Amino acid sequence: MPIYTFKCNDCKRKVDVLVRSRSRISEAKCPACQGADLHQIVAKVARVRSTGERLDNIDVNAELGQLEGKDPAAFSRWARKMGTQFDSELGSDFQELADRADAGDDPIERFDAEHTLRYRIDQARNQSNGSSEDFSI
Ligand SMILES: [Zn+2]
Repeated sequence: MPIYTFKCNDCKRKVDVLVRSRSRISEAKCPACQGADLHQIVAKVARVRSTGERLDNIDVNAELGQLEGKDPAAFSRWARKMGTQFDSELGSDFQELADRADAGDDPIERFDAEHTLRYRIDQARNQSNGSSEDFSI
């Protein structure tokens, strides 16, 4: 469900409200004072994206296309970018792999980056969907 940011005209607070759908924005109430006089603040940065949404925006094939050729320097750049954006959400260690590649090491894991990425994304999706199933490799 999307989260919208409003200015409450009753208590003057800036509040984030979970709205079932865009058509129900007018029914939103201020979580602080229950006031209904909300003014939507439209700002791209105000929208909090869920992990699931963020993961949906990863174009795995495009990302992996950047790994073609399997050049260690290219891998390092890619792993660092992915790590910066997603390590904390995916529980992956791409930043560590980047460090190792930069240090002249040739991490064997880079040949497995596709598997790792797909697996981590699937796992994070399942978690963010509230699934209680356990997956193991
Ligand atoms: Zn209020």
